[in-house]
Amino acid sequence: MTDSFQLGPIRPPSEAHSLLIRATKNCSWNRCKFCHIYKGQRFELRPVEEVKKDILAAKAIQDGLKAMAWKSGYGGSLEAVVTTVLQNPPNEAYFNIALWLYHGGTGAFLQDANTLIMRTPDLVEVIKFLKETLPSITQVTSYARSKTAAKKKPEELKALHEAGLSRLHIGLESGYDPLLEYMDKGVTAADHIKGGKNVVASGISLCEYVVLGLGGKKMWREHAVETAKVLNQIDPAFIRVRTLTVKEGMPLYQEVQNGSFVRSSDEEIVEEEKLLIENLDCGAYFVSDHITNLLQEIEGKLPDDKDKMLAAISRFQSLSPEERHNFRVGRRVGIYSELADMADEQKHKLAEHAIAKLSDDGKKVSDETIYFLMERFI
Ligand code: SF4
Repeated sequence: MTDSFQLGPIRPPSEAHSLLIRATKNCSWNRCKFCHIYKGQRFELRPVEEVKKDILAAKAIQDGLKAMAWKSGYGGSLEAVVTTVLQNPPNEAYFNIALWLYHGGTGAFLQDANTLIMRTPDLVEVIKFLKETLPSITQVTSYARSKTAAKKKPEELKALHEAGLSRLHIGLESGYDPLLEYMDKGVTAADHIKGGKNVVASGISLCEYVVLGLGGKKMWREHAVETAKVLNQIDPAFIRVRTLTVKEGMPLYQEVQNGSFVRSSDEEIVEEEKLLIENLDCGAYFVSDHITNLLQEIEGKLPDDKDKMLAAISRFQSLSPEERHNFRVGRRVGIYSELADMADEQKHKLAEHAIAKLSDDGKKVSDETIYFLMERFI
């Protein structure tokens, strides 16, 4: 039995403690201008038998760690063994299993970018095998494209839900058609609505991702308003935001270099987020748990917490320009997690030192440097 299994490059932040099983490889679309993850990699549907072998390899690693725990005493408690493996894992698969077990061993995430594109009977077979082989798993989630979800028949999505698919994560990015076209997303607002509604109707929990700043200086207003309209129609369980990053390897990088796409600053993106939230009229839980977001504390259940979320934005916007700058730099270098951290004198001073070090005039760090600081986390 092999002691490793395939792992894809990414998973949503909320799946950090899930077992990762690579049911497909890379992205079936792979053309979005703002994405570099799978560029140059060919999409592959992995044979079901191959995916099952990976699930068995995951079980073998899990069983090996459990056996070690029994041998080492402490009534078979896994914690000590898992902590040791996390400090020095033999490979990434061991690390993933150890982390998964440490956090209860209940979640599994099927990689890569659009596993829903598998033939429905194949995906049902993978999910059932996964749950039978590792019965501690109670949550199975995956990424999907709206277009694929729009093409699936309602009975197919229901069959997936019955097999154990609990949540789909969809990159909505925007609900504004000219922006979706410009970014080569390969999806329209109507596709997003159809795909999203199909998922919601099947009983599978839906998380939609929005990219703040995607419209740049030119389309930010339409991006915010039209995205809210699409989300209101879908009414997903979760809306998660992340902020645009631009890195070499993304087609958008060239457009930023040649000036055809002009990025919004942090402060403009906060204004865009305000407009998005103001226009949301649905029952989703709004989450900002991505490292790229300036204001990660903007979180709550709509519509009840809307005022609370907008108040967090107002707190930032009512700061003096110097204090806003202090927060932006402090947040991007990792000193602050949220606005309330500015009350900590030591952290505030550290942010001031960072500004003095990173700016030419000792007072103002350029937007380019701030973008760079944000992007080094990605
Ligand atoms: S569909 Fe998702 S993974 Fe594929 S290119 Fe677009 S953003 Fe990237």
